Formats: sequence, structure tokens, C-alpha cells
Amino acid sequence: MRQSSLVVVANRLPLDDNAAPDGACEWRRSPGGLASALHAILEQTPATWVGWAGGIGPAPQLSDIGGLRLRPVSLSAAELRGYYEGFANSTLWPLYHDAVQQPVFDRGWWETYRIVNRRFAEAAAEVAEHGAAVWVQDYHLQLVPQMLRDLRPDLLIGFFMHVPFPPPELYMQLPRRVELLRGMLGADLVGFQRPQAAHNVAQLAQKLLGAHATDDVITVDGRTVHTGAFPVSIDVAEMRALSSSPDVLSQAKQLRHDLGQPKRVLLSVDRLDYTKGIEHRLTAYSELLRDGHVKVRDTVMVQVAVPSREQVDSYQDLRDRIESEVGRINGEFGRVGEPAIHYLNQPFARSQLAALYQTADVMVVTPLRDGMNLVAKEFVAAREDGGGALVLSEFAGAAAELEQAFLVNPHDVDGLKETLLHAMSAEPADLSARMTAMREHLVGHDILAWARAYLTALDHTGRLAERLP
Ligand code: UDP
Repeated sequence: MRQSSLVVVANRLPLDDNAAPDGACEWRRSPGGLASALHAILEQTPATWVGWAGGIGPAPQLSDIGGLRLRPVSLSAAELRGYYEGFANSTLWPLYHDAVQQPVFDRGWWETYRIVNRRFAEAAAEVAEHGAAVWVQDYHLQLVPQMLRDLRPDLLIGFFMHVPFPPPELYMQLPRRVELLRGMLGADLVGFQRPQAAHNVAQLAQKLLGAHATDDVITVDGRTVHTGAFPVSIDVAEMRALSSSPDVLSQAKQLRHDLGQPKRVLLSVDRLDYTKGIEHRLTAYSELLRDGHVKVRDTVMVQVAVPSREQVDSYQDLRDRIESEVGRINGEFGRVGEPAIHYLNQPFARSQLAALYQTADVMVVTPLRDGMNLVAKEFVAAREDGGGALVLSEFAGAAAELEQAFLVNPHDVDGLKETLLHAMSAEPADLSARMTAMREHLVGHDILAWARAYLTALDHTGRLAERLP
């Protein structure tokens, strides 16, 4: 395989796997996210993306897409269980999200996580040309930076953590805390969503590794590691264009009609995950119905809960609890042809999401902890009309930027009920001022700005390193 000067390493390749009409598999670039951020950069820099293609067993043969080379990494069924469902999503994911769900510490998963991280590091080492920049993504691959440094000391290595990084008292619970910290600090630049995460890592580096550490530079094993906050964003232009397209506008009109032309539509869009605060939201909504503050005849709630990590027990339990609660609420408050909650346990295409965003009067985003929450940003970008209210949890990274949202602590059910009522009854001029301010912020801080800021900082650490004795 030819080598590249920029290599992205992520758990998944940026691909959607669509069944073609003849039943064969057809690959195309997945929309949104990191792939679209890199699109503009890739036009100038030949790059390779290393990641899992999604299937079990030998990796498929993949051709380049739009100037991007793909280097698939294979996973066996046992590796998928130990590395992905196990250590990444049953140990690290809950621990990094404030342990809102008890993390599982299974001693068997660690070795698989290490082996799979090693495979990703080897693949990156193989495709990176001399002195290339390699950008490793997220908690699935936390050991890759140091493994890659051992294999290829010539590389400039970046790591970005998309999820929160927990405070020391939580991180200290991890049985493999030293190896995981060392793994991540193998990078030249470690980026986080929020400055607090860099502070947490500095404290841990001092405590566990005896490093000299400030909130932006850590000196460990005679090397300098830079850290910092780079809040991730969305492709604002894409969402704006999609939302103003005639097709999406007519879908939105149809949706409102299908919902029975209610006075108000409340919308939530989440992966079905225990970090998203779906149960807290349902409790608040159910109490508003019970207290008579909200009437099914003029208000509907639409809850999109996309299936996620369905092999993991805690996700199956959560789905059972949510579906039982939705059933209870509809049974108690719904009327014939007028459910209180429209619950959709299925994924939606981006154009359908854009239509849903157009339809919503109140977008309700209540995670208990979230690295960023892109849905909140997408809703703001979609509402060129200045309409709609955003109710947003203080515990989403996005709350630090979208200050004009109706901010809320989702653990406080009474506060959540009050905030929902406030958002539902706000004056159009107030809503428009809030949405305009948030949209202006997003236009200046889109996904391309994020990728540029990160890669520029990474490049800068490389140059600095060259100048050091
Ligand atoms: N999303 C989607 N289809 C759906 C629901 C969500 O494509 O049916 C996308 C959504 O547009 C957003 C992403 O999934 O870009 C969710 O990102 P977010 O940061 O909100 O949460 P995460 O799932 O990463 O925890």
C-alpha cells in the first residue's frame, strides 16, 4: 500500500454500507462528522484512514473514496466482544461518563483491547510515510499513541478524546489506569472537548507517573506532551443547505400534518444510551401531563431513540425500561389517534433528521454527561428561520458554547419541568435572539475550523519539538 503524509486512525472507517439494488454491498463516504471535516483538507493532502469496516472476520478489499485511501482493520467475533462491547463500551464508556452506569471490570477484556489496539497501531505504522502526522481518535484506541511511537518514533502523533475525561477520583478506579494513561500520553498533542479534561489528565500524570504537568504541557519520560481543548463541531453549511432544501421543507410540512397539526412539538434525538438522560426526560414529561400543564390535544413529543450497542446487557435493560415507560405514558395519557409520545426506535437519514429539526418547537437534549452532543448543534444550524427553542443539559460539552439555550440540570426533575414550560411559552422574539446568537457562534466554529485548529496545533508541536535540544 502507498504511504500517506496524514493518517487518521479511528474505530470505524468513514463508510456507510448500503445494500445496492442487486443485493451487493455498496460503499460510500458516511456524511457528517470527521470525514466531512477532513474533506477540504484531503483535497490538498493525500491521506489514509485506518479503521474497522464493520464486519466480522477478514477485512474487505476497499477502493479509495474521494482521494481518501482506506486501510481496513479486521476483528473477530471474540475481539468485537472483548475490545468493543467489553473494554471500550462496558468499562471505559460508563466510567468516562461519570459512572452514571456502573462500569464493568472484566479481567479478560483487557488483553483483547491491547491486542486490537496493537493491530491498529501496526496498520498506521505501515501506511504512514516518514515524518507523517497520525491522528488517533477516541477511547477505543487509547493505547495506540504510545504503541505507534514505539514502532515509528519519526511520526507526529495526535490523539483526540471525543468523550469526557473523568476526574481523578473516578479514573483511579480503573484497574489498568497506568497503562491507559501512558498509552494516551504517547501522543505529541492530546486534545479534549473541555479544558477540565486537560486539568484532570495533568493531575493524574503527576499522581500516577510522577510527571511535571500543567493544564497544557506534560513532561513525561523525557518527552513533552501538549494538551488542550478543541470543542468538536458539525458541518454547519451542509446542515443549513439540507434544511432549506425544498424536499426537506415539504417533508417537515408533511410531518406536522401527520402529527395532527399540534400547537407544539417537542423533539428528542438520541442514540438509545443511558448517558442521554432519556428516562429523566420521560419522567418530567409524564409529570407535566399528570399535573395538567401539558395537554395531549395540543402538544406531542417525538422521541427518536436510535438502536445502539444492542449486544451489551445494560443497553438491553435500558431499552426495556424506556419502552415500558413510553407504553405507560401513552396508556395513561394518550387518546385514540393521539399518543402522548411518538417513540421511534430506528435510525434516520440526515435529510429526515433535518425535517424533524424543522418540525420541532422545542428540542429537548438532556444528557447526564456528554462529550459534546452534536444533535444540539445540528438543531441550531438547521433553524435558519430563527424559530424553535433548545433545552440543553449543563452536562453536555455543547452547553459551554450554546450559552443562549435554556440550560438545565436533568437530575433536577422539578427544574427540568419548569425549564420545559419556560421554553414552551417563550416569546418568538426571545427565541429568535437566542437562536441567532447560537447560530452565529456555530458559523464561526464549524467542523472544518475544529480540524484546522487541531491539526495546526499538532503541526506546531512538531516544529517546536524539532527546535528543542
Ligand atoms: N444521527 C443520525 N441518525 C439518527 C440519529 C442521529 O444520523 O437517526 C446522528 C446525528 O445527526 C448526530 C449523531 O448521530 O450527528 C449523534 O451525535 P451526538 O454527538 O449527538 O451523540 P453520540 O451518538 O455521538 O453520543
